[in-house]
Amino acid sequence: MNKPINQSGWKPGTPVASLEEGDHPTVTGNKALMLEEPLIFEIGTTETCGVDLPETQTDLPSRLGSFVRTDGTGLPGLSEPETVRHYTRLSRQNYAIDLGLFPLGSCTMKHNPRLNEKVARMPGFADVHPFQPVSTVQGALGVMNELAHWLIDLTGMHGVAMSPKAGAHGELCGILCIRAALEARGDARKVVLVPESAHGTNPATAAFAGYAVEDIPADKDGRVDLEALKARLGPDVAGVMITNPNTCGLFERDMKAISDAVHDAGGLVYCDGANFNAIMGRVRPGDLGVDAMHINLHKTFSTPHGGGGPGSGPVVLSEALSPFAPLPYTARTKDGVVHLVEEENADAFSEKHFDGAMQSFGRMTAFHGQMGMFTRALTYILSHGADGLRQAAGDAVLNANYLLRRLEDVLHAPFADAGPCMHEALFGDEGFGERLSTLDLAKGLIDEGFHPMTMYFPLVVHGAMLVEPTETESKAALDQFVTAMRSLAERAKAGDETLTTAPHHAPRARLDEAQAARKPRLVWSEEAS
Ligand SMILES: *Cc1c(COP(=O)(O)O)cnc(C)c1O
Repeated sequence: MNKPINQSGWKPGTPVASLEEGDHPTVTGNKALMLEEPLIFEIGTTETCGVDLPETQTDLPSRLGSFVRTDGTGLPGLSEPETVRHYTRLSRQNYAIDLGLFPLGSCTMKHNPRLNEKVARMPGFADVHPFQPVSTVQGALGVMNELAHWLIDLTGMHGVAMSPKAGAHGELCGILCIRAALEARGDARKVVLVPESAHGTNPATAAFAGYAVEDIPADKDGRVDLEALKARLGPDVAGVMITNPNTCGLFERDMKAISDAVHDAGGLVYCDGANFNAIMGRVRPGDLGVDAMHINLHKTFSTPHGGGGPGSGPVVLSEALSPFAPLPYTARTKDGVVHLVEEENADAFSEKHFDGAMQSFGRMTAFHGQMGMFTRALTYILSHGADGLRQAAGDAVLNANYLLRRLEDVLHAPFADAGPCMHEALFGDEGFGERLSTLDLAKGLIDEGFHPMTMYFPLVVHGAMLVEPTETESKAALDQFVTAMRSLAERAKAGDETLTTAPHHAPRARLDEAQAARKPRLVWSEEAS
């Protein structure tokens, strides 16, 4: 007989949810087609297995010596159909870009086209291995080079390091390039300036790379205060990290003046390009004097964010910084053409800088980066074409401005008078009832069937709500979101305290988020259950 792992635990048919919830409790805890689901440890047993495995041969001498396992693994098992249902039920308790609008500001949660998935699954891309002989993976390397070519062209830069695996990883790559370039000229500067309007990963990156981080204030319109920046520049400043468009959803119009001032003071310019979706095909950061910038393929180029990864954060580099890039990387050759992989010089791409002036700071990853993301991103780029990418940026900005103007009369919009926004609209909690906060409105949004927006960021706005619709939402979808937001804003302003206990319809309501982040329980134990 099967022994349930959780001795005190749940048995099929037993209600798992409190019967006090809602007006119409059910004995199963299920709510119509929304099914309750215990942990697999509570329903699985050690004796059940979803597949038939051959008996293991136990009479062979073990090569593990004292490390041989003497007790069971304790891993729970279910039959195959039970396993499928368990994970399908859990997946339905989550929200996804395939279910509805995902308004997270600064995250560019756009639709992931199915064509990308089809191409990424082609065996010639999906089944290659980094240890394969270079001559057998020319197509895969060709894809990487063609993507590199597009990224260099779109940004007006000189080279690109493809291997970083996320935006923040790309930031580290760019800052390490800057550090290597400064060290190569014997000028070990100690300070990186980061404006208030920068993304939170920027100061973290600079600190991680060993720099002292100093703030630059924002002006009243939410942009970098150019005069304050100039006043702080000097021989100790290695460079600046500027998010453009910034986290207030605004374009830093003084970018060229910022770059010129930093260069005149002997520093280098890092641009956080995670929000490139708003400007691609319209502005080339290389023309604005940027030395290094990461691009989030999982934002701008529609590759999935999927549970925090795998992301991909290629870093485009100026001519001055390219020689310091981590291996492998791609750069323009002297004739101005992006180097394409060919059989006879394939090695040059995989490990060496082809013009011989190699001063690389090392490697960021073991191999070439996220191949599956490269194929998806290139598919997205080729299916849009240059004109389609330009239009995507325009539509993303249009959608954000539509939300800003449809909501500015019911929600405090601190920079609405500064002119149009870029990819995201920023609101604050001014005027909410005394006991109500941004968190309450966000929880109310869950009841209305939406993932909440980015909250309490950027820090320059009290109770910030940062909404980025992206270009992939239709007007009908935006209007539905506006209806929900207007209603919630009015309830928050009227002091409707039922919002303080929202969400009322979600499988789980207010979790202790601080506790979950600080003391996550990642391992199930019978005692704690
Ligand atoms: C998303 C984002 C990052 C970090 O990118 P990850 O891929 O999440 O590491 C950095 N800066 C900005 C402005 C971003 O929006």
